[in-house]
Amino acid sequence: MVPQERAGAILTIDLEAIVENWRLLSARLGEAACGAVVKADAYGLGACRVAAALEAAGCRSFFVALLDEGVALRKALSAGSRIFVLNGTPQGMEGDFIAARLIPVVNTLGELAAWQERARAAGCFLPVALQVDSGMSRLGLAPSDAEKIWNDPSLLDGLSIELVMSHLACADEPGHPANEAQRKNFERLRAVLPAAPASLANSSGIFLGAPYHYEVARPGAALYGINPTSSCENPMRPVIRLSARVIQIRDIPEDTAIGYGQAAMTQRASRLATISLGYADGWPRNAAAAAFYQGVRLPFAGRVSMDSIILDITDGARQPREGDMVDLICEEQKVDDVARAAGTIGYEILTRLGRRFHRRYIDTNAGPVSVDDFKE
Ligand SMILES: *Cc1c(COP(=O)(O)O)cnc(C)c1O
Repeated sequence: MVPQERAGAILTIDLEAIVENWRLLSARLGEAACGAVVKADAYGLGACRVAAALEAAGCRSFFVALLDEGVALRKALSAGSRIFVLNGTPQGMEGDFIAARLIPVVNTLGELAAWQERARAAGCFLPVALQVDSGMSRLGLAPSDAEKIWNDPSLLDGLSIELVMSHLACADEPGHPANEAQRKNFERLRAVLPAAPASLANSSGIFLGAPYHYEVARPGAALYGINPTSSCENPMRPVIRLSARVIQIRDIPEDTAIGYGQAAMTQRASRLATISLGYADGWPRNAAAAAFYQGVRLPFAGRVSMDSIILDITDGARQPREGDMVDLICEEQKVDDVARAAGTIGYEILTRLGRRFHRRYIDTNAGPVSVDDFKE
């Protein structure tokens, strides 16, 4: 990673805020355990750092999407923590799951048979999670598959079922009838399978109430500060700050073109500041947003470029100078606000954040230094 002094932009990730969000969700869950979804590099924020901080806080169940995400994560966690791989076992890769002590989330009977075959060859029980499709048609065993298991329990011989799980399609819409319908389907499918701890709720699912909690919840987005309630004020703490450096300031006369396509014109004599961050850093090109300098709003002018954005600072009550940093994601403009401006969801904004920022992690648990400049 680029050191802070030479970086065009800095992404600060507050691990303590993530831990606090996990504690908040845990408290809401009562008896149920709160896991953590750290797939896609913890939604772009650094899976190993995030998971290690959550493990220190007491989290014991982690979820990734891919085998290699699990292999990398295993090195950051102790043996007591479980790592579930949501996208299951690519054919022939079962040995890699065993070597890294990963638990496959099995979605098909074919995967189940291959994993069982491995257990037989190894001569020991292997852990498995069974995903059932309760109404999303994305991943999971169909009701007919569950029935086959009911009719032939030997399909699970040699396996220890760590979790029976399903995923909600509409959890972010608390009034949606699909939620209750999926929960009832999940109940029916669970009844056909051997008794095992159950898991249904993602972040928003936790806010649907106790009947959705079961034994383990699987929040991702809410840990990272995205609002899990569609209509209420965000109960989660913000987790990231994104700042970019002002690399040039110019005074431009009235009626002068700004940026690519000359898509904007100055309406008056204007002061423009160009910052060192663009769509190559994951900033959505179509998000008409602003930057903030000491809390003062500085609107974008013209189109977002690959490596830069032009700000109109003419009216800024406080003005940055060349070399100063301005904020793009901050208290005044949260991840969800940027997502709204871009016509997408906070998940996409986070997971697309670029790889050329200087990254800083705030983690006071790691020692006396509160800001730890990350080195790869
Ligand atoms: C991504 C994912 C989650 C986490 O969802 P959030 O909405 O980010 O909390 C939980 N379960 C499954 C199966 C997922 O794919």
